[in-house]
Amino acid sequence: MKHYKIAVLAGDGIGPEITQEAIKVLKVVEERNDVTFELMPALFGACAYFATGDAFPQETIAICDQADAILKGPIGLSHEESKKIPVDKQPERGALLPLRRRYNTYANFRPVSLPKALAHFSPLKPEVIGEGIDLIMVRELVGGLYFGEKEMGVNAQGLRYVRETLEYDEAQIRRIMHQAFKLAMKRRKLLHNIHKSNVLKSSVLWNEVMEEVAKEYPEVKVVNYLVDAAATALCLNPAQFDVMVMENMFGDILSDQGGGILGSLGLMPSACLGDDKAYYEPSHGSAPDIAGKNIANPYSMIGSVAMMLENSFDMADEAKNVWAAMQGVFADGFSTADLSKPGSGVKMISTVEFGDKVVEKLRAMPKV
Ligand code: NAD
Repeated sequence: MKHYKIAVLAGDGIGPEITQEAIKVLKVVEERNDVTFELMPALFGACAYFATGDAFPQETIAICDQADAILKGPIGLSHEESKKIPVDKQPERGALLPLRRRYNTYANFRPVSLPKALAHFSPLKPEVIGEGIDLIMVRELVGGLYFGEKEMGVNAQGLRYVRETLEYDEAQIRRIMHQAFKLAMKRRKLLHNIHKSNVLKSSVLWNEVMEEVAKEYPEVKVVNYLVDAAATALCLNPAQFDVMVMENMFGDILSDQGGGILGSLGLMPSACLGDDKAYYEPSHGSAPDIAGKNIANPYSMIGSVAMMLENSFDMADEAKNVWAAMQGVFADGFSTADLSKPGSGVKMISTVEFGDKVVEKLRAMPKV
């Protein structure tokens, strides 16, 4: 019997609601496999700040340190509510970036996936979607503008100014490239390298290192795309993409667009992998506009559990069952409010009902 410790950071907004559904699924995975999960809940984000004065408190750090994997819900407050927290203690700067830095989770995998049968969820036309959307964005997660030095002040002319630096070294670029090329080798052997080398020198180095790494993967076809053009291409012809690799901020923005072409950010799980530790989180934020209403889509959180099963616990087959269980709920014509717009014919169910149906489907599947 395998035993794993999971730090559970439910987070803010819809975080606790969708985390609850993910935990239900973990319990069923335990029932069906020779595995036990020790769930270790901890405060993280704005909730942690209000309870302890720190968005990533020492107790949470200690729990994460001893965990085999971390399951993290979204964090953050609405724009107005955020102002109640000092800038440097706000959830992203005070918790999320320190979490990523502490565990050096440099490789962020964000699948953007919509089978043909679910094309009606997407705002794109069926002829654009074709055989479905199935790509993975590989985002560098611990470098670039988000992690560079930041400075705010008043300059010699008496004007307020801000300076943020974008820094990468070649080792940081090389390791994310290897992750992307390895993934491409397992899939269509096609890699889209997203950059902005016509303007940013960081992209010039990015591309140089990419070309060096590419020599080690001669079977992979590389296509270079400027990030702005890639944003358009994602809407006009998403099928051309399979694996896309990009630096931190490009990945933040483009992957939300990925949620857009699927029809909801609620369809966006992710895995954030370091060499020694990994954490799993939805790609989206805490959705304060729908928090507490039992209407959020827990797919992103349950999908993050599936990614955890595959990447941290070597349970790829059971992970496939979790994906299939969720797809089965959609195939039966159900979804949460984000994907059941009036006239769509989709039967609207709550967050809790979605979780219940996933659990029911998973229980009915043959054990692996
Ligand atoms: P958001 O991603 O929270 O929401 C954008 C839109 O998508 C909203 O309309 C929301 O209702 C919808 N949405 C998101 N997830 C959904 C789900 N699972 N089901 C149904 N609908 C869903 O973006 P925002 O409103 O700009 O940000 C809210 C807060 O989240 C901010 O404080 C932001 O800083 C934070 N944030 C945190 C993370 C993270 O924890 N990794 C990521 C992005 C944003």
